[in-house]
Amino acid sequence: MTFHATISGVPRIGPDRELKKALEAYWRGDSTGRELAGVATKLTNDYTDQLITAGLDSAPYAGRSFYDAILDTSALLGTLPERVADIPDHSNDGLPGFIDRYFAAARGTAELPASAMTKWFDTNYHYIVPELSADTTFSLDDHAFLEDLRDQIKRAGTAVRPVLIGPLTYLSLARTTDGSKTLDLLEDLFATYARLLPRIADRGAEWVQIDEPTLVTDIPEDVTQRVRAGYEKLAQAHPELKILVQTYFEDGDRAIATLSGTGVAAFGVDLVYGGVELASWTGEELLVAGIVDGRNVWRTNMDQALQTLGTLAHRGPVAVSTSCSLLHVPYTLEREDLGPVQEWLAFGKEKIAEVAALSAALRGEDVSEFFKASREAIAAREASPLSHNEQVRARTAAITAADRQRSSIKERQEAQRESLNLPPLPTTTIGSFPQTREIRSARARWRRGQIDGEAYKQAMVDEVRDVIGRQEALGLDVLVHGEPERNDMVQYFSEQLEGYLSTDHAWVQSYGSRCVRPPIIYGDVHRPEPMTVEWYKVAQSFTDKPVKGMLTGPVTMLAWSFVRDDQPLGDTADQVALALRDEISDLIDAGAQIIQVDEPAIRELLPLREANQPAYLEWAVGSFRLATAGAPNAVQIHTHMCYSEFNELIDTVSNLDADVTSIEAARNGMQVLAALKDAGYELGVGPGVWDIHSPRVPQQDEVDALLAAALDSVDPQLLWVNPDCGLKTRGWEETTASLKVLVEAARKARA
Ligand code: GLN
Ligand code: ZN
Repeated sequence: MTFHATISGVPRIGPDRELKKALEAYWRGDSTGRELAGVATKLTNDYTDQLITAGLDSAPYAGRSFYDAILDTSALLGTLPERVADIPDHSNDGLPGFIDRYFAAARGTAELPASAMTKWFDTNYHYIVPELSADTTFSLDDHAFLEDLRDQIKRAGTAVRPVLIGPLTYLSLARTTDGSKTLDLLEDLFATYARLLPRIADRGAEWVQIDEPTLVTDIPEDVTQRVRAGYEKLAQAHPELKILVQTYFEDGDRAIATLSGTGVAAFGVDLVYGGVELASWTGEELLVAGIVDGRNVWRTNMDQALQTLGTLAHRGPVAVSTSCSLLHVPYTLEREDLGPVQEWLAFGKEKIAEVAALSAALRGEDVSEFFKASREAIAAREASPLSHNEQVRARTAAITAADRQRSSIKERQEAQRESLNLPPLPTTTIGSFPQTREIRSARARWRRGQIDGEAYKQAMVDEVRDVIGRQEALGLDVLVHGEPERNDMVQYFSEQLEGYLSTDHAWVQSYGSRCVRPPIIYGDVHRPEPMTVEWYKVAQSFTDKPVKGMLTGPVTMLAWSFVRDDQPLGDTADQVALALRDEISDLIDAGAQIIQVDEPAIRELLPLREANQPAYLEWAVGSFRLATAGAPNAVQIHTHMCYSEFNELIDTVSNLDADVTSIEAARNGMQVLAALKDAGYELGVGPGVWDIHSPRVPQQDEVDALLAAALDSVDPQLLWVNPDCGLKTRGWEETTASLKVLVEAARKARA
């Protein structure tokens, strides 16, 4: 049995965030396990039905997921962290037996810390990092998965295609607690999968999809060989069960080269972010052609796509699919009201229709109406004045190298010493202060029209006054306004920039029950009016200490949005950069002497293959510099990045040429500083001395020790004292207590 039309993966959170709401109600104790289980079952059933009704003849099914697919895999393989092992099986109420251990790993408990969470390849989705060791043994806990699968096949037939995360990918994303290499477990894990596959076949499945996105990254030759051997074994595990190996986010040809001839029955590849040549494909296996973009929101150019598919279909059997899971895009456009831009777009449901139409066309069916409508929409987009602004184009065309270049570090440091006159080891924070219930409820009331703009603004001004007062009382040196008016920073700026559009219901899962609504960049970006100057002025009016202007950098503005696909990312980034450059100039005119431009996402967009990284870094760094290089010497530019694995980005941090960079460092004990020192870094740095990701207040001697460790690697003239990240998710109690400790640590170190 083969198939012709599918998608690579399904979203889980629900078209109306039903799973989020059900999870949160369950965690609060407001609903039963049976209710939560019912919501998850209904969502997966509905999605399968939607795919089949739309005309797809194979439907991926990853089981009911209650938080994250990698965590699901850990539960399935019996590798939830050691520390949750004592939590007993859940009572029989429709939830899997492991669910209490599963949630404890995902979210922590009063006694137990949560597992680390990190970004899924170059996306803004976060997975729960598996914790393994040399002693890890895999023991399948597959009861829940197999029961669900059997029910689903009974209900919807053999079009249901179970999906697993592949052994290579699972281990590559895991960490060990004992310094051993996760890949040492590769053969064991293949053997475990070899036991699982017959059980899956037993429940009635004809196909199994195994996701191996790690196969698109740079992997050493010996690992490639071991993976090949592993798949040879899997292909023999159950002769009737056909295996689809799925990759995404990059060129799939290497995966095909690695696994061709092993007995794998099909390769799923990304034809949008990877090439369409696929030189290694012999035409022997089924090609599941990911031609519909699974992670961006634009309509597919159907004629072009059909042509590509036609060329491939001459070489062997082809099924039509999406480039990756539809997890990364909203469910449907149906409830949006986006004006003329609406018809340029395709969200999940619309993409499924595109897949079905392409597959039908490929098999010679008449879908000319669908193609015609699509052709017209694409022509309308191309001709629209909305996507082209001549003034913006003229300005980007005139950018010169000098626009990205400030004076020498020495000159700037001298000028800033004079203008700012700060004590050694200045203390500051990263920008946001607690987003209290009052702040969020004021914003909600304003959005619903229950209070007017003036009343809302007044509430925020009062908040800023309060936040400034608290920082003065704590004795911090460089203050912030606290960002109360920003719900999500990218959303906040996108609402004020032309060329950006916000949606109403277009939620995408970011992690667990957390969803985001990324704005859409549809046209040339520019800034009609100052965006933050009023807030800066309000804050500065309450204090004599310097208040930092607070902006979000161009790369992050792109990374957390859906970007236009009709021009290079670097061009869009430069447009955002020019808007920020103007904002910085206005902030300076209003009196700001320190301006922070956050770039927490600079690492997230780093290409998966080393060969593609230099070109990315060139435009990413270039856009940051374009945004900031207009500042005179006496104005201090800060930036902030929050992830700890910095070592591969040391040069990038230098190249940004920010006067001060604050980074996450508390959890890994300042390791990154030694690398900075070795690289001859001569700019200011603020390694976080308080891990803000947990409500715990650090002890004085802990922070003292971190600061002492920092002083081992950093010139005291260049060292700043600050937390790891913004404080918006924290409460006031721990914030005040922790900042007291931080200020005291700086005071003692100065003495
Ligand atoms: N200035 C932002 C804040 O403090 C930075 C956010 C971030 O690092 N993600 O919230
Ligand atoms: Zn941060």
